[in-house]
Amino acid sequence: MDMTPDDFPTSAYIGGEWVTSKDRFAVVNPATGLVIASVPDLTAADARRAIDAASAALPAWSAKTAKDRAAVLRRWNELILAEAEPLAQLMTAEQGKPLAESRGEVAYGASFVEWFAEEGKRAYGRTIPTTAASKRYVTIKQPIGVVAAITPWNFPIAMITRKVAPALAAGCTIIVKPAEDTPLCALALAKLAEKAGLPEGVLNVVTTRNARGVGEVLCADSRVRKLTFTGSTEVGKVLYRQCADTVKKLTLELGGNAPLIVFDDADLDQAVAGAMASKYRNAGQTCVCANRILVQAGIYDRFADALAKAAQSLIIGPGTGQGVNLGPLINAEAIAKVESLMADAVKRGGTVKTGGAKDAAGSLFYKPTVLTGVTADMDIVGQEIFGPVAALIKFETDDEAIALANSTPFGLAAYLFSQNISRAWKTAEKLEAGMVGVNEGIFSNEVVPFGGVKESGLGREGAAEGLDEYLETKFICLGGI
Ligand code: NAP
Repeated sequence: MDMTPDDFPTSAYIGGEWVTSKDRFAVVNPATGLVIASVPDLTAADARRAIDAASAALPAWSAKTAKDRAAVLRRWNELILAEAEPLAQLMTAEQGKPLAESRGEVAYGASFVEWFAEEGKRAYGRTIPTTAASKRYVTIKQPIGVVAAITPWNFPIAMITRKVAPALAAGCTIIVKPAEDTPLCALALAKLAEKAGLPEGVLNVVTTRNARGVGEVLCADSRVRKLTFTGSTEVGKVLYRQCADTVKKLTLELGGNAPLIVFDDADLDQAVAGAMASKYRNAGQTCVCANRILVQAGIYDRFADALAKAAQSLIIGPGTGQGVNLGPLINAEAIAKVESLMADAVKRGGTVKTGGAKDAAGSLFYKPTVLTGVTADMDIVGQEIFGPVAALIKFETDDEAIALANSTPFGLAAYLFSQNISRAWKTAEKLEAGMVGVNEGIFSNEVVPFGGVKESGLGREGAAEGLDEYLETKFICLGGI
């Protein structure tokens, strides 16, 4: 380890150059409210320059063999891992999550780089049996071209590597617009990619407060052939529309409203552990966090008691604190949203079993909360909470649970807990979700496809599917044989 968080860049990165600007914006530590650094507030014109750079770099990068690209990606992976500790410190400083979670995310983020370095070598086409004696049919896979990536603040490294690694492995070049709240990790990744020998223009990072203006440029420019976005469904829909004129390929990883079903025959300890992991990780600020916890009547009280006890054992504080496992929310709007959802739930008859208020640790800390007596008419059931509040809904029958679980426009993650394999399998098949955890609260990794159905998005990240998102299939018919 030879870098400290202070050594990481605070300039944007375009065409292999570290770009400054007289306009800058502050990056704030959500645990303390203190400014950590400032980064350039780039413009729509800068975004166009980044597209120029990515376009110029495309022919040479896409012409390299997958093996040569893999060599650069592997070096990048090694450098990320070598700098894991300062990167984790940087992440906790700008995003707030507990250091142990930041360390986990650095490893998780790097795993996509390692995995796609290898998977890029397996971008296989097909030979197809002919329908005419004089012809032969093959398909080949080719990089789609210049890619634009727009990413959220809740996983400042992994949401970037999950897009950049497969894009680069496929032979694409890319422009990343990181979240305004967490640009430092994105720039740190670019620094390490540069050190790994990534040619100029292959990866560009545009920091900006003008997400809308920069987003419009990235969507409108016909040289950008693909947009990959992780963030809210609301913004995803705007980008989907904006990409229509140039008919871009899209990956949209959008919001969720994950149901977590606890059946009467669940192993109680397993269900509580799964709910804790799914609900309170990153202070409840993940797209796959259990948003609605559906508990069958026979186990409801025991589950609520055990979950409340486990929630009370969480240690709340700045992510750097000893043993802390619940950090602050990202900003004042996030706290306001949780408070408003709680007020609505309590007004409509919900009961606060534990928590239910801000914590003395600081203005952005909210106590781990368990809310019982939740009903379908409450806002907390229809909206993504994005905070450490477990909302418990009681149900009687399996059909009722499945109907409740599916009664949302979202379909990202779902979880269920049951010791009955038949019930678990049938329920997993019926849940309208891109991913289902059975007796498991955390399931994401680089080798499995991550993504949603319905208004939770399009496409998949990770796994072979994740590489395919950056490839086009070309059919070649060889005639005159
Ligand atoms: P967000 O407000 O949609 O922002 C995501 C990104 O889009 C940020 O970089 C943001 O920039 C940018 N953006 C905002 N408005 C834009 C516009 N008009 N044009 C172009 N870009 C725009 O979401 P968030 O609050 O950062 O993230 C939380 C959401 O992400 C949740 O809904 C969560 O479920 C979802 N999420 C989904 C997944 C998944 O894999 N499905 C994973 C993680 C998070 P600024 O930061 O400058 O506003």
